[in-house]
Amino acid sequence: MEFFEQITSIFVDFTDPRKRIFVGYLALSLLIAFLWLILFKRTTFSTAIAKVFDRKVFFSASSKADYKIFVINRLFSLFISPLLLTQIAIATAIYLFLHRQDFIQSGYFNDVNIGVVVASFTLFVFVIDDFTKYLVHRWMHRFHVLWAIHKVHHSAETLTPVTVYRVHPLEGILYGLRSAFAQGVAISTFLFLFGNSVDLYTIVGVNILSFVFHVTGSNLRHSHISISYWPWLEYILISPAQHQLHHSIAEEHYDKNFGVALAIWDWMFGSLHLSEDDKELEFGLLPNEASATNMIDIYTRPFLDISKIISRRARNFKQATLRIFSN
Ligand SMILES: [Zn+2]
Ligand SMILES: [Zn+2]
Repeated sequence: MEFFEQITSIFVDFTDPRKRIFVGYLALSLLIAFLWLILFKRTTFSTAIAKVFDRKVFFSASSKADYKIFVINRLFSLFISPLLLTQIAIATAIYLFLHRQDFIQSGYFNDVNIGVVVASFTLFVFVIDDFTKYLVHRWMHRFHVLWAIHKVHHSAETLTPVTVYRVHPLEGILYGLRSAFAQGVAISTFLFLFGNSVDLYTIVGVNILSFVFHVTGSNLRHSHISISYWPWLEYILISPAQHQLHHSIAEEHYDKNFGVALAIWDWMFGSLHLSEDDKELEFGLLPNEASATNMIDIYTRPFLDISKIISRRARNFKQATLRIFSN
């Protein structure tokens, strides 16, 4: 019985509305893909079916690797659940820090209308979560050590909704800490300012804004259905086509569209690229990046790459020090 429970717990994300891959969101993404192809791309029903369920995408070597990584990572995540405790520790530390400051009193805005507090908290949690995701993602591309880890996600040559799980466990831990920090800041700041009236507007236990993000096809970001928005909207929200462009190996798409839900961060910090109509994109890593070929390679290569980077830095540092002292 226990073994059976362990097995089903691997797939529990499919039944959890807090996860992008929840079956309800997947079904809606399918519907959106169909409607997009039939209404906007003017394809016939049978062509739309063939396109959406393209075997070449779902049974490619890359997608099969995604499915294996999904199962292996879920097994890993059973061991890193203590991260949840870290989240509470971070929130408490920030709360205590604010409490010690003289310039503001705890519960200072206690009289503010409860509806306003809950609406602003719901928005604040969503925005800070999205912004920290943008920032960490940008660092993942900027710093060599982090790129060694993030490369696993970019080694996907076909995209399916499961590709969102194609990340090295180290990336999972980094994003877990990021989430702890973002939620810690949001919860403690609001508790501090508004007292105990802090709450979220939720649907099925999910922040209403995250829920809207998921029911409007968040899964299509990792797919071969290139849905773009009106250009003005792509300055505000990242369309599926814009994230697909982030995975493209074309030079003009390097370091573009790091955002998850909101495009405003990319717009503000100069990394926005609007989608391009019906352009065939090639996904994956450049030939000089030597993508991993098997599971052992996928999981161990980042460690090897990081140790190479560190020893190269140490060598350079030693040479520079020697040069300074020999002058
Ligand atoms: Zn990336
Ligand atoms: Zn991606």
